[in-house]
Amino acid sequence: MTAGTPRPDIDTSKPHPARVYDWLLGGKDNYPVDQRVGETLPAEARGNAARNRAFMHRAAAWLAKNGVDQFLDIGTGIPTEPNLHQIVQAISPAARIVYADNDPIVLRHAEALLTGTPEGVTDFLHADVRQPATILERAREVLDFDRPIALSLIALLHFLPDDEDPYRVVSTLVDTLPRGSYLLLSHGTADQHPELKQETESAYKKGAIPLRMRTRSEVEPFFCGLELVKPGLVFATEWYQEEPAPVRERSGFYAGVARIP
Ligand code: SAH
Repeated sequence: MTAGTPRPDIDTSKPHPARVYDWLLGGKDNYPVDQRVGETLPAEARGNAARNRAFMHRAAAWLAKNGVDQFLDIGTGIPTEPNLHQIVQAISPAARIVYADNDPIVLRHAEALLTGTPEGVTDFLHADVRQPATILERAREVLDFDRPIALSLIALLHFLPDDEDPYRVVSTLVDTLPRGSYLLLSHGTADQHPELKQETESAYKKGAIPLRMRTRSEVEPFFCGLELVKPGLVFATEWYQEEPAPVRERSGFYAGVARIP
């Protein structure tokens, strides 16, 4: 999309997290306001975004191979191939995926691009994670809540400041899922590069995007009462199963997958 032809409901006067992230991944669906935030971020942010996305690919494939065929992905982002449903439906063509994001630009692109297999379902909700009950109610129209569902919250929760109570939001979602479901989560952190923390926070702050990176001990409670699968809560580059180990680089994200007992 060129900067000169914004759609009516797309606000190009202020940066949006989805479009900044798209810029970081090398996408074209962003505007100069978003690029400015991206360019103000430390250079590592681009690699961190790509490594976060790679974690999503590995974790979604692992879950699909282990028989999970229903996914609720909140904070989907602007489509960037391969998207979660493509990974999952390549393994399990009848898989049902519900995407949710609060950004209208994501909705526009999702409607155009997120087409899945004929046997499966790929649906999209324009919804805010801060209203988890609404998301759950609408997800029930597509997903069977009597069978395991993978809830993915990838690179989303650092956009919820503490006063939005992200822990309550996650527990509301998790508590509604049936036994044997999974939580798949990644979260921005400066634990591996504390020297970049201030630069990162101030770049987002200038764009009026609240960013709350969290430490390991602040990310752990999202998994409270759940059974983390190996290798546990680790940096995104350290989460892998049978595939070859990813290159060990510093990561700006914690990542984990846990089973809901
Ligand atoms: N999950 C994708 C994209 C991460 S970018 C990935 O990891 O590759 C973060 C996404 O979260 C953006 O698309 C942004 O629009 C969305 N988001 C931010 N706050 C949100 C909220 N309160 N409710 C729903 N989505 C939100």
